[in-house]
Amino acid sequence: MLGAMQEWTMRVTHVIDHAAREAGDREIVTRWADGSETRTNWAGIRTDALKMAQALEALGIKKGERVASMAMNHSRHLVSWYGVAGMGGVLHTVNPRLFEDQLEYIVNHAEDKVMLYDAAFQPIIDTMRDRWTTVEHYICFDSGEHTTAFEDWIGEQDGNYEWVSGQETDPCMICYTSGTTGNPKGVQYEHRSTVLHAMAGLQPAAFNFSASSVMLPVVPMFHAASWGLPYAGAMAGIKFVFSAVNDPAVLHQLMLDEGVTDSAGVPTVWLAHFEYCDKEGLDLPPLKAATIGGSAAPKFMIRRLLENGTRVQHAWGMTETSPIGTVGGPTHDWDQLTLDEKVDKCAMQGRPTFGVELRTVDLDDMGTELPRDGETSGALQIRGPWIIKRYFKADKDAVGNDGWFDTGDVGILHPDGTLQLTDRTKDVIKSGGEWISSVELENAAVGHPGVAEAAAVGMYHPKWDERPVLFVVKKEGEEVEAESIIAFLSDKVAKWWLPDAVEFVDDIPHTATGKISKKDLRERFKDYKLEA
Ligand code: AMP
Repeated sequence: MLGAMQEWTMRVTHVIDHAAREAGDREIVTRWADGSETRTNWAGIRTDALKMAQALEALGIKKGERVASMAMNHSRHLVSWYGVAGMGGVLHTVNPRLFEDQLEYIVNHAEDKVMLYDAAFQPIIDTMRDRWTTVEHYICFDSGEHTTAFEDWIGEQDGNYEWVSGQETDPCMICYTSGTTGNPKGVQYEHRSTVLHAMAGLQPAAFNFSASSVMLPVVPMFHAASWGLPYAGAMAGIKFVFSAVNDPAVLHQLMLDEGVTDSAGVPTVWLAHFEYCDKEGLDLPPLKAATIGGSAAPKFMIRRLLENGTRVQHAWGMTETSPIGTVGGPTHDWDQLTLDEKVDKCAMQGRPTFGVELRTVDLDDMGTELPRDGETSGALQIRGPWIIKRYFKADKDAVGNDGWFDTGDVGILHPDGTLQLTDRTKDVIKSGGEWISSVELENAAVGHPGVAEAAAVGMYHPKWDERPVLFVVKKEGEEVEAESIIAFLSDKVAKWWLPDAVEFVDDIPHTATGKISKKDLRERFKDYKLEA
């Protein structure tokens, strides 16, 4: 016998319909690259998305086809998230920082038909145009002085349109992994997975959104669906403040002027904001919550935000997980904790939101499940309705027979469900048969007042197999010696974890998403030899 409740296909169009109906006048503010500002609201976003859906159909775009965007965070980009999904298309958000070969590969692989882009990326478009074989239409989001190509284009439509219906499992977005090895891989998000992921994201244990939230997301809309914020924010009817430039001075002023309560970004974004405030002698903006993810949030950053009265939501995830896997927030014992204890808690990556499950397995056999004892580290695996099953156009599943996806991360699970990420499988340092976390070494090292950035890499050692070497970029104008860094680390990590050498470098290579590229670092130092 079946139950008897109403049918409601879980599609992204419900999200924008809800936002327009229930929070239609809640503002969406954009500060553009040229310094101008525009204001619309959820009702306006929906109207424009309807027009855009019509305009895409007028171009001959069919359900299931891919429409690319290469754009920063702004209201027109937001329109395209809902407009493309609304006509049954699949939005491919392209990271403009990728190398040319990767840009060529992903756009051709996704067979994008349309490219929507910011005028700032015109040089990339000009370079890539002849190499992209499937793109038929190029539409600029912000050309011209008063109107824009994009607005002219959708302005030809009347908005009298009905969203395309379909299956919950139809795709609505595709994001490519940053690809530290081999070609980038496409991850197709479904309408259903997107709606479920967003519902999990807005709850108090995650982004903690309510109608009074004012969010300025610094995490780009071209990276892992901007952590699902544009969907979760619509569900809660929050006010969004977008900035098409990532200049800390601009972000800071916007936060003050627009009453921003929440922001989200990778650690380097927060670091840049701290440095700006220090240089100008300003207080941090009075944020209620800061979401930090993409790389580990260092303790000094967490401490400073907590001291500012800002709740720290340290999140872990990846493109393959839509991306939210875990988010940290105050725990049941929060009020009894000292500041140091709070910092220690927030330095871990939080707990799984309802819907996803985590487990760790033995790194050597990749099969034996490990205890959640807060001590044993292993390969981190995940499963759930917004976790990848198969990469785009792949001929076999990305998960094992038991349905678990291997994240390539190494972590410890605590009895209360907290994830403590310790490394990437490829980056853990194996010294004399024991594992050393390169990430923990780096996080501790960046707490040193003279260290701007640090990367720990395992180097061949004749006796121990591998030993850690710490590569350090000094803070501008600081004189730092290797001995002072080792002394600084000595009460923060186990003695046998202390690096065998500290090497000062001018820069550390990064991936297109701003993470340290250990692969490139190892390549750069491939002839490096440790003394026995
Ligand atoms: P991406 O798919 O580019 O978002 O990269 C995902 C990877 O970033 C994960 O597999 C982790 O290695 C890393 N990562 C994401 N969030 C965190 C975090 N909070 N702490 C440490 N590493 C993280």
